[in-house]
Amino acid sequence: MNFKNVTVAGSGVLGSQIAFQTAFKGFNVSIYDINDQAIDAAKDRVAQLAETYKVAVSATDSDIQATLERLSFFTDLRLAVADADLVIEAVPEKMEIKASFYEGLAKVAPEKTIFATNSSTMVPSQFRQYTGRPEKFLALHFANEIWKNNTAEIMGHDGTNPAVEEDVIAFAKAIGMVALHIKKEQPGYILNTLLVPLLNAGQYLYANDIADPETIDKTWMIATGAPQGPFGILDVVGLQTAYNIVSNAAAKDPGAAKIAKKLKEDFIDKGKMGVATGEGFYKY
Ligand code: NAD
Repeated sequence: MNFKNVTVAGSGVLGSQIAFQTAFKGFNVSIYDINDQAIDAAKDRVAQLAETYKVAVSATDSDIQATLERLSFFTDLRLAVADADLVIEAVPEKMEIKASFYEGLAKVAPEKTIFATNSSTMVPSQFRQYTGRPEKFLALHFANEIWKNNTAEIMGHDGTNPAVEEDVIAFAKAIGMVALHIKKEQPGYILNTLLVPLLNAGQYLYANDIADPETIDKTWMIATGAPQGPFGILDVVGLQTAYNIVSNAAAKDPGAAKIAKKLKEDFIDKGKMGVATGEGFYKY
């Protein structure tokens, strides 16, 4: 792996974190987003991350200064990827947005450039046909709050060149991640394949009034040694996201409909969205 230049496309919640962490670890990073307004928002996020890194990872002023000097901002995709070794895509989780982004990228990226998607719920084979280089395309999935939740799930599709996977694994390590290689496509990667059934089971126990959230969490935490139970985790994820997911499933699944109704009445309608609003299943 001799990457030097990385482009992060989409500078929202995750894209800004990926860009900052990558620059913090010494790579040149080009941030690409769709317009000046989005770039202004990215600059605000970067400024906030600079403060977070000072506290969370004891970054010095000179570390931060050097990080900021390695970051540049673009609204022109051709310029943003002109010398990119790797493009990490963190655009919204919508099929049509990602597909058209890759179609545009395929036209302007140099031949050497590897493309990686940070998609949480889609697999690379869903959009490899838009990339023009399926053998150089794979998933590189980070977690929110990358500076402490430093997992990087690396997952190719069945046509990804194994050498490309190796390069991306080495890159993930170089930016301070624990690289987790997934050998074949799996929706939800490892983390969500494990986590989603736990969260669903917790919500089932709660919505059917089998036990209250504190009791459910306590059971899980004491019995397994986990630092949080499903409701502590749901508060971090955010109740709106949890509600959106069960609502989508509600039309076909009466169990999900019951959970959705309970979440709406007990939390959404009361503005209790989890850690972000100071109260969800717990108070913060
Ligand atoms: P977000 O909505 O915060 O940010 C998306 C960004 O993409 C915005 O800055 C937007 O302006 C930009 N954008 C929109 N259209 C674009 C285009 N055509 N080209 C370039 N940029 C465009 O979203 P997010 O939460 O950062 O999620 C981005 C991706 O990361 C998704 O695939 C999501 O599944 C994944 N992800 C998110 C999290 C999370 O906790 N938020 C965790 C892991 C992975």
